[in-house]
Formats: sequence, C-alpha cells, structure tokens
Amino acid sequence: MPTRYVLIGNSAAALEAIRGIRKHDREGAITVINREEGPAYSRVALPYYVAGEMTLNDLLIRQRPDYGSLGASLVEKENVTAIDAAGKKVMLASGKKVEFDKLLIGTGSETIKPPIQGLDQVPHHYLWTLDDAIGMKKAAEKAQTAVVIGGGFIGMLAAEALRKLKIKLTIVEMAPILLPQLLDEGAGKLFLQAVRDEGVTVRTDALVSALAKKGDAIEVTLKDGTTFTVDMAVVATGVKPHVQCVSNGAVTVNKGIVVNEYLASNHPDIYAAGDVAETKDFLSADRSIYAIWPTAVEQGRAAGANMAGAKQVYPGGLGMNVVELFNVTLAQLGRFREGAGDDVKMLNQGGDGLYRKVVVDKNGTLVGAVYLGNENGAAEMGVIHSAIKRREKWQGFQDGRPPVFTYASVMHRVPRY
Ligand SMILES: Cc1cc2nc3c(=O)[nH]c(=O)nc-3n(C[C@H](O)[C@H](O)[C@H](O)COP(=O)(O)OP(=O)(O)OC[C@H]3O[C@@H](n4cnc5c(N)ncnc54)[C@H](O)[C@@H]3O)c2cc1C
Repeated sequence: MPTRYVLIGNSAAALEAIRGIRKHDREGAITVINREEGPAYSRVALPYYVAGEMTLNDLLIRQRPDYGSLGASLVEKENVTAIDAAGKKVMLASGKKVEFDKLLIGTGSETIKPPIQGLDQVPHHYLWTLDDAIGMKKAAEKAQTAVVIGGGFIGMLAAEALRKLKIKLTIVEMAPILLPQLLDEGAGKLFLQAVRDEGVTVRTDALVSALAKKGDAIEVTLKDGTTFTVDMAVVATGVKPHVQCVSNGAVTVNKGIVVNEYLASNHPDIYAAGDVAETKDFLSADRSIYAIWPTAVEQGRAAGANMAGAKQVYPGGLGMNVVELFNVTLAQLGRFREGAGDDVKMLNQGGDGLYRKVVVDKNGTLVGAVYLGNENGAAEMGVIHSAIKRREKWQGFQDGRPPVFTYASVMHRVPRY
C-alpha cells in the first residue's frame, strides 16, 4: 500500500518536503493541509505587495494545478487542532480526521501580541500572513501617519513599505538600536542614522505602554509618558514557533518542536521543519531556531527525503539575512556578535557608509560576519556563508581578506545562454 504522507502547512517547509518525498517515492499519497485559502504565496514578498510594487498574483509561488502534477492534494481552510500521535491521525477544526503514515509539521511562526494597554480596542496590523498584508495595505491607503511598534526585521520591512507610500512614520523600539537581532552595535548605529536621515522619527530605548482611540486617530502613549497621535498602528514585536496543534503533548516541544539530525521528533513518524522546528545549531552545541526562508527550504527538503526513507543529515541551523532597507544593504551571518575567545577582523569601520566585519573563533575558523553598505558588497557575504559552512579558516582567504565582488564582476561570471 502506498505511504500516506500528511504535511501541515503550505509554505517553504511543506513545499520543499513534497520535493524531498518525490525524489525517493513516486507512489505515495501526499496531502497538504493548510488553514489559509489558496495556493502557496511568498511571505517574503508581502511588504512589496503592501508598498504597491507587486500584485496579489505576483505573490503566488504555486498555482492550484501544481499540487496535482506532483501527486499531492491541497486541503484549504482547514486548521489542524491536534495530533493523535499514538493513533497516527490529525484532527481538523471541521471535525474530520486524517490518518497518516508519515507526518510533517510545517506550521511556521505566529506573531507575539505585546502587553499594551488598550491594544484590543484599537485597529492595529501585523505583517505575517497574506490577510495581514491585505488589511495593512487597505489601512495604509487612508493613512498619512503611522506608528510601527518594534524595530526588528518585520517591523522595519513594514516601515519600509509604508515609507514608500509616503506615510509619515514613528518607529518605537525597546533596544538602543534598530534591527537588534540582525546587527551589532556598530552597524546598528549607522543604520539608525540612515533611517533618521530619511525623515523617520525613531524612538529607541522606548516602550509603547498604551494605545487609545481618539476619534478616527490612535493615541500612542510611551512608557516615559510621551504621547502622540497617528492614523494607523503596526505591531511587530516578534514571532514564536506555531506549536498550538501539538499542545496536547503529541511530540516534545521546547521553544519549537525538538527534532534530531534527520528532522524527526521524538515520535519516529512525525517530523518538523522550518520556523516551527528546533534543531541543532551549526556553530555550537546549542539548539536553535532561525526563522528564515532558506532554512525552512533546507529543512523541508531533508525532512521530506527522510520521511520517504532516505537518511539525509541536516547539518544544523546557521543564521543568515540579506536585506535592503532605507537605501542601505544589510547582511548578517552566523555568530556576528563575537563571543568569548572570538577574534574580530574589522575590514571597514563605517566611513563612507561602509561597515564590514568578520568574526573568527579561537582556532581561526570563520563563524560570522556583518555587512552594511551598498548592494555591490553583499555578494561577498555569499562567499563567506559558503566558507562558514565548509568550516574554512580565515587564513585561507588571500591576504586574509574575503574576495570583493561588485555587481559588474558578479554579472561577468554569470554564464550566458
Ligand atoms: C513580511 C515577511 C518578510 C520576510 N522576509 C524574509 C526574508 O527577506 N528572508 C528570509 O529568509 N525570511 C523572511 N521571512 C521569514 C520567512 O517567510 C519564514 O522563515 C518562512 O516563511 C518559514 O517557512 P515555514 O514553511 O516554516 O512557515 P510559514 O511560512 O510560516 O508557513 C506556515 C504554514 O502553516 C500553516 N499553518 C499554521 N498552523 C496551521 C494549522 N494548525 N493547521 C493548518 N495549517 C497551519 C500556515 O497557514 C502556513 O501555510 C519573512 C517573513 C515575513 C512575514
């Protein structure tokens, strides 16, 4: 009898798991269950939709017939509420039950609701799902001013989208710099200045304590007592692994679902991949969750292959992000904030808007990097990323410097057909 594969989620991890399964099993029945409606879309591209640079159609990364051509069926608008691990069934909100031989949990992240007084009484927007983006875009069409609560990655993507719509922004961030998870202090200070130079009001070391309706506007109160009013509020105070469907203890959960090097949970037929999975870290003995698209793809592919009988080892998560925000290209890799015993190679200190830092461990092995500058320099981060994954030594680079790529040199290398 063909194996029954059930995948919860219809995004990076689950889509790649289909590929992974099909590499090893052409016959098995694959069922993709998603609480959202429609074929898969790019979460990464949502800010471009809000900014009016992409249409809803542009966001789609699959069409409905694509599932059938891979021998998969897509169940839409069905929320998995619980998993019966012993009985090997998933329970749906509609009351149906779906049996599985192998299960992948690819439920991603969910947004964290901050403890702000009055939050539930005022209209506010998150930026995580397609529905969120549609709601944010509608509100932005009528707004002239906005507050973005949280200056992390998603907050800054939302801020960038609203800025492109010429909305006057105030960003409130509790850390002393913007993007505190992505940048070290040096790059963080430069980025903060770049955002302020664009006319954005940024309140760092600040907390929003209350929101209240004032006619059509929203009054924002900060912890220090400052108040101001805006037309719309965006909440971007972080995300956490979406583990609701296993809250009955179906599998072991720490921060995320704990998986081994094959992406299997403590139940041998239940796997997890992507933002919801807590894996071994590539650089340390710790466990980690890197909520980024490439990680979800890599894990999904390996999990799918292993569900279909392969023995593909996942080498561990490695942080990586490259993004252009407020006319600055930013990139971060691995352990970019040096730890005890690490050595820092400062290649550029920030003069002329260029900041390049490489971190090596006590053995001289590359472990991290930060880049802030123009788009030309970001390509070298790809080289450093591969070098970290190959555990290369810093001395291995010619003259102890990473190769510098420019847009022109990269284009020159691309084979033309
Ligand atoms: C605005 C934005 C911009 C981003 N930009 C970048 C970027 O530039 N670079 C980058 O690397 N990463 C970026 N990310 C992060 C990236 O999108 C995620 O890391 C990635 O989508 C994780 O993929 P996933 O498959 O693990 O989970 P998700 O993409 O979160 O998908 C989870 C899926 O599970 C479904 N689901 C959840 N619970 C249930 C349930 N109980 N029953 C049924 N279905 C369920 C959801 O509907 C969804 O289909 C961005 C994220 C956002 C929101």
